[in-house]
Order: sequence, then C-alpha cells, then structure tokens
Amino acid sequence: MNEYDSNRILDLVKTIDYSLTTNLAETDCYVLNTCHIREKATEKVFHDIGRVKKNFRNKKKPILIVTGCVAQAEGEELLKKENYIDGVVGPQSYHDIPGIIKRAEIKKNKFNSTDFNTIEKFDHLKIIKNSNSKVSSYLTIQEGCDKFCHFCVVPYTRGPEFSRSFSEIILEAKQLVNNGSKEITLLGQNVNAYKYDKYKLSDLINKLSNIKGLERIRYTTSHPRDVSDDLMDAHRDCDKLMPLLHLPVQSGSDKILKAMNRKHNIEYYLNIVEKLKKKNKLLKFSSDFIIGYPGETSHDFQETIDLVKKVKFINSYSFIYSVRPGTPASNLIIPDLSLSKKRLEEFQKISNEIKNSYRKNILNNKVKVLFENKIKNENLYFGRDEHHNSVIVKSEIDLVGKINDVEINNFNRNTLFGDIILINNKKKVIAA
Ligand code: SAH
Ligand code: SF4
Repeated sequence: MNEYDSNRILDLVKTIDYSLTTNLAETDCYVLNTCHIREKATEKVFHDIGRVKKNFRNKKKPILIVTGCVAQAEGEELLKKENYIDGVVGPQSYHDIPGIIKRAEIKKNKFNSTDFNTIEKFDHLKIIKNSNSKVSSYLTIQEGCDKFCHFCVVPYTRGPEFSRSFSEIILEAKQLVNNGSKEITLLGQNVNAYKYDKYKLSDLINKLSNIKGLERIRYTTSHPRDVSDDLMDAHRDCDKLMPLLHLPVQSGSDKILKAMNRKHNIEYYLNIVEKLKKKNKLLKFSSDFIIGYPGETSHDFQETIDLVKKVKFINSYSFIYSVRPGTPASNLIIPDLSLSKKRLEEFQKISNEIKNSYRKNILNNKVKVLFENKIKNENLYFGRDEHHNSVIVKSEIDLVGKINDVEINNFNRNTLFGDIILINNKKKVIAA
C-alpha cells in the first residue's frame, strides 16, 4: 500500500510543479514514506534522515516530510526529536502534502497533519489522475481495520475501516488500463471487508473483469473472517481473477489465535481453504505467520508447523513477534528471543522445503506469464505467472506487457527460469 501511496503522492505534487528524481543528492524535497508494522521503523527514519543530512552538508537544506504510519504513530515526537523534519503527515492526510511543501518553501513553521481524513483524502485523489503506467499496478479500494488483533498497530495508524466509492474505483482502474496496465491488484488492510452501498469485493471483481485490456485481477490482504461465499464464487467464475489467495493465518494454534484476538480458529480456516479448493482446483494459498507470540509453547509452535505441512502454502511470510507500543499485547511477557529465533529458523526451513517441492513440480511444465519489465542491459525479461511466481526468460523480442506461455527449466528460491513458447502459425517455437 505504501507503493500505491507514494505514487499518488507523486501525482499530487506534480500539481505544484514537482517531479520525481533519482538524483538523491540534488532533490529540493524529500518525502519519506514509512511503515510501522514491525520494530525498528522509527530508527530507520532517523537513519534515512542521517543520510539526507550527509548528502546536503554545506548545501541548502531540502524540505523534508515524513509520511506514512511512523508519522501517524510518532507525530509530534518526530518533530521534537529531529529539527531537520519540516512536516509529519499521516497516511490519511497525505493530500495535504502539496500545501505543506508550498508553506515550507516560504515559512519556517513545522507542520503536523495526522488526522484521519480518509474521505477528504480520496475526494482529493479522485480529481487527480492516477498516472502510474506500470504493467502491473496497485489500486487501493479499502483502508483501515476494525479487527484489533492484539499484536497489530494498523487500526491505530491507518484508522477505522473505510471503503472507497465503487464508481471511483472503476474510473481509476480504467485510467490505469488506458495508461497500459494489464494487471491490477486491489489493496486494503482488510481488502475483503470492502463494502460500499450494496457492493462487495466480488461485485468489484466482476465489474473490473469487463474492462477491455485488463487481463489479470488480484487482491490483498484478506482476513479469513471476511471470505464470503460470493467471493469464493468469484474464484470459480471470474477467469481474470488469479488463482492465488494470500490469507494470513498467523498461527496454527487455537490457543494463540484466541490470545491474538484473531476471531478465527484453525477449523474455520481449513474449512475456507477446502471450500475454495472445491470452487477452483487451481487455487493456491500463501500466508503470514507470527512466531514467538507471548504464551507460545513448543506444542503451539508444532501446531503451526503441522498447519503449514497440511495446507502446503506456496509462500509463507514469517516474522518474530514484535512488540508494538500501544497495542494490547504490548503488556504481555515476551518469550525468550533466542528461542523465537530458533523456531523461526525451523519454521522457515520447513516452509522453504514445501516451496521447493512445489517448484520442483513446475519444472518442465508450462506457466502463463505476464511480463512486466526488461532487466537492464540484458535480453532478459521479468514477469509473473498466475500464482504470482517471479519468472525470468531470455528473449530477443520485446515482451513487456505481453502474456506468454513459458516452459520452466530451472528455479531458485525466488525465481523460476524458462524459455518462452511463441505460438507462430499454430506451431510452437522457442525464442532463444
Ligand atoms: N490484515 C492482515 C495483515 C496486515 S499486517 C491480516 O489480518 O492478516 C501484515 C502482517 O504483518 C501480518 O499478517 C502479520 O503477520 C505481520 N505483523 C503485524 N503485526 C506484527 C507484529 N506486531 N509482530 C510481528 N509481525 C506482525
Ligand atoms: Fe492488523 Fe490485520 Fe488484525 Fe487488522 S485484521 S488488526 S490489519 S492483523
């Protein structure tokens, strides 16, 4: 979501004649977009500001704005601690950035804009065209969360659940497709809680699938409680909806899920997985896991391992529990860090083995790849298959924006490698 936000911030500042630069030592203004989900976020901000200061030693200081969830959580504190910062702007107030830059150009005041102005933000954004022209683009449809898992900072930094207007989203999707996007990933902290008037996420998916030129639709991140029957049906009926569902479970232990206030247990979770697999047999799953949550015993941990083995997630993202100030879990006793690290290592070893055997099965098989970009200075093209696996092929022909079959002949932990199969006069030819 920060990538989407950064692109939209760029669209906003273009209206006051600023543009994007990659020359970090020459910029007039820095906008540091931050994430607060796990620890060290604030330290990273100070580290980055240190780098800016170094670049601008003996030069005129650039305007420096900190936005995103660290700005929301630390607001005034950041301004007090670091005089170099001109403004802090929360993720629901970033439409204020052009005004703050203009004022910072002439005044010495510091600006703090951390109210939850989500409606106002999207009212601003809807009149400024989304100029992103990537083959695969993000589109925020929902923000915030009302679920209050005990470990999580999101409900406090992104605010309450909010769904954008149905027609606004369709309009923005059409803009993206007109700019060249072939794939759109719908975003939300709880994307499947999307609800606007009578419309749900499945309505949005079905409507988007009618847009000519849009080839692929994805959505992330979903909560197991909000996987409704109509959404499951969309996985059966909508060809453009890609067959990968990222469905964070966090733990395999009912006891820990309850302590986390997750509002689902393992039986409920597995039931969804089974139902979805019946709707669409191509569907695969990925998930997030928190290791070393307060109270996690070796038995609880073993249940997490059992779950991973059972569902065979094709990607498992695992994190050691990180105390987030102000969350209910922050008062609990943290387990021994060295034990949590050991468990994380074991977890990752097993989840990587599962991923590896899944990838072995793809060897010598065909996958459909949407190519996103050419790798610099080489005739190599990067794309993703339907299950969101990274794929790299060699090709003399420009593949960007094209969907092609690829025969996979090698892989490593991050990438599949293969040869592209072109259908030419109904004959298959391999592009060297
Ligand atoms: N809304 C999604 C998750 C959003 S946060 C859901 O309900 O699952 C993204 C991921 O960050 C989470 O799935 C979780 O695994 C991880 N995460 C969030 N807070 C964390 C914390 N305090 N410590 C470690 N990992 C955390
Ligand atoms: Fe955080 Fe997701 Fe739980 Fe909301 S549902 S509190 S975003 S982990």
